[in-house]
Amino acid sequence: MDEFEAIRLADFEGMSQREASVTMQISQPTFNRVLSSARSKIAKGLVQGDVLRIEGGRYLLEDGSGVLECVDCRYTLDMKSDDMSFCPKCGSTNLRWNRWETGKRGPA
Ligand SMILES: [Zn+2]
Repeated sequence: MDEFEAIRLADFEGMSQREASVTMQISQPTFNRVLSSARSKIAKGLVQGDVLRIEGGRYLLEDGSGVLECVDCRYTLDMKSDDMSFCPKCGSTNLRWNRWETGKRGPA
């Protein structure tokens, strides 16, 4: 099963689990299991530092290609936010990794 695809559809594209399971042509319980497994790996990665690094006061994806931002107010989470599960500015839990376009390195 493609855990990356599950995360991409559910957390990046924002699909419901039903929509995403249809897209991946698997049952919803299976999709839920794949997604849970993928999220668990990401959580481990975050804690162990595999997924992100910190640069210029911001959380960045490990390859430097994106930042963690609030979907609702576009606030970029920085090191001052010790809890990455919600937006310190508006309180939204609707956060996502925002990948910069290739060749474009976001605001310095
Ligand atoms: Zn916000």
